[in-house]
Amino acid sequence: MAEHEENCRIRYEVGAGEEWDGFVARAVARNCAGIECLSGIPGSVGGTPVQNVGAYGQEVADTIASARVLDLREGQERELSKADCGFKYRTSIFNTSERGRYIILQVSYALKLGGAAHIAYADLKKHFFGWTEAPTLADTREAVRRIRASKGMLITPGDEDCRSAGSFFKNPVLSADEYKDLTKRASAKNLQVPSYPALDAQRKVSAAWLVEHSGFNRGYSGGRVGISRKHALAIVNRDEATAADVLALKDHIQQRVQDIWGIHLEPEPVFVGF
Ligand SMILES: Cc1cc2nc3c(=O)[nH]c(=O)nc-3n(C[C@H](O)[C@H](O)[C@H](O)COP(=O)(O)OP(=O)(O)OC[C@H]3O[C@@H](n4cnc5c(N)ncnc54)[C@H](O)[C@@H]3O)c2cc1C
Repeated sequence: MAEHEENCRIRYEVGAGEEWDGFVARAVARNCAGIECLSGIPGSVGGTPVQNVGAYGQEVADTIASARVLDLREGQERELSKADCGFKYRTSIFNTSERGRYIILQVSYALKLGGAAHIAYADLKKHFFGWTEAPTLADTREAVRRIRASKGMLITPGDEDCRSAGSFFKNPVLSADEYKDLTKRASAKNLQVPSYPALDAQRKVSAAWLVEHSGFNRGYSGGRVGISRKHALAIVNRDEATAADVLALKDHIQQRVQDIWGIHLEPEPVFVGF
């Protein structure tokens, strides 16, 4: 890992095989802002641009400056700019238009030295409610890890509610018409769907809400698989579940959400060998 200081920014060049959370810890300890809310996410640095890893109001697209890749089509190394990576919500060229073309070798992140912690997400605001001083980056990292642990989203040995692939479904991004249809269905049941503005007049809707309001509560048991008691979007392996068990529950959830809410939930994990 190399770091270069440019004005108030520190540019980190990090090898793809480095552990992501170790890098976050190092950046926070150096008082560099920009990835503190991405604490506690399992995996490697090289995995982060692929699905534009995001959580608690930050995503890696906010700080990635470039990525060094091996282009398997041309047989040579290349430097891709942030724009080249085509980042959107949970996507990039690496998992869409150019899937399989590049091996990411190194990622360059531009972080703000002495920058303020990003406290935009409701759970974080709630955590820090009543604090008289602004939370530091270290406070924020600690808070994010605690919140993640309470949701089974921090890998904790012995906790069966965190034996998951993380959030199984992406939050659907709906057009104005699709959103209108969804709110109509919800108000017929006297319900209000949690949603947030997205680009181009679209709305991002809570996938967790859709799952829970389709008969799959936290703690739902489907035999060897189930839903985490701590998080409606985490499909967990309760007892030697097979991939087929996981897929059966995934299909069941998708079908119910489609039937009740008219929305197709898209999985977030990559399926290997299907
Ligand atoms: C408990 C839990 C919580 C999670 N929470 C979050 C979260 O909050 N936000 C979030 O965005 N994700 C989350 N995830 C998903 C996961 O942590 C991320 O997708 C992470 O980036 C995966 O990294 P990895 O190195 O394990 O990649 P893998 O899972 O091994 O690979 C993921 C994809 O990236 C590709 N890939 C990986 N490395 C490279 C490389 N060097 N070059 C080219 N392609 C590559 C793989 O081919 C694959 O398609 C969570 C997962 C778990 C289990």
